[in-house]
Amino acid sequence: MRLVLLGAPGVGKGTQAKLISEKLGIPQVSTGDMLRRAETAGTEVGLRAKKYMDAGDLVPDEVIIGVVEERLREPDCQLGYILDGFPRTLAQAQALDHLLRRLDTPLHTVLAFEVGEEEIIRRLGGRRVCVSCQATFHDTNQPPKQPGVCDKCQGALVIRDDDTPNAILHRLKVYGELTEPLLAFYAERGLLHRVDASRPVDEVMQTVTEVLDR
Ligand code: AMP
Repeated sequence: MRLVLLGAPGVGKGTQAKLISEKLGIPQVSTGDMLRRAETAGTEVGLRAKKYMDAGDLVPDEVIIGVVEERLREPDCQLGYILDGFPRTLAQAQALDHLLRRLDTPLHTVLAFEVGEEEIIRRLGGRRVCVSCQATFHDTNQPPKQPGVCDKCQGALVIRDDDTPNAILHRLKVYGELTEPLLAFYAERGLLHRVDASRPVDEVMQTVTEVLDR
């Protein structure tokens, strides 16, 4: 199954993508995680992306489209994948459309996660991320067993550079201007399913499962 997860930063796309990935046995393709790994590894793409990411801006389309095209051609993506954080602009959605047409592998569903802005700011403000395995925690919603230490790999938990109050507001603005138009793009193609993601993780997953079973 080939899925796209849409939604503003902080709506829980990453959390749901991991659960869907475990349930369906298909990979989560998170462009944010890929860029952060590239940054840590010091690759050319990572170095190019860093200044945009730190400021809460989008990395240029041509950079991210190339990264995704390469990833989707890998063997583990041949039975399906969950795109988490891509596409984020109309140009990216069109590029994906062309690629999938060339490969004759159309998308099955686009899930749009919806959460109010106040709740998003609360979620992102308390988010802590493992520097080693990228697992995410939350100060109050999902605290680690030991403060500052990842439950899964014992890596250090940090606040992402783009989870500062100013960067959060900027990312929400960027989302509204550049990514929100994709809701209409996918609705026109009959692929869009809206999901109320302000509820607890397991309830959201229940709705996602019902949509995917249809
Ligand atoms: P995320 O972890 O999905 O919130 O992504 C973190 C940051 O990575 C974003 O704020 C962007 O700077 C960059 N990024 C991730 N995905 C994309 C994309 N599809 N297009 C452009 N920039 C992206």
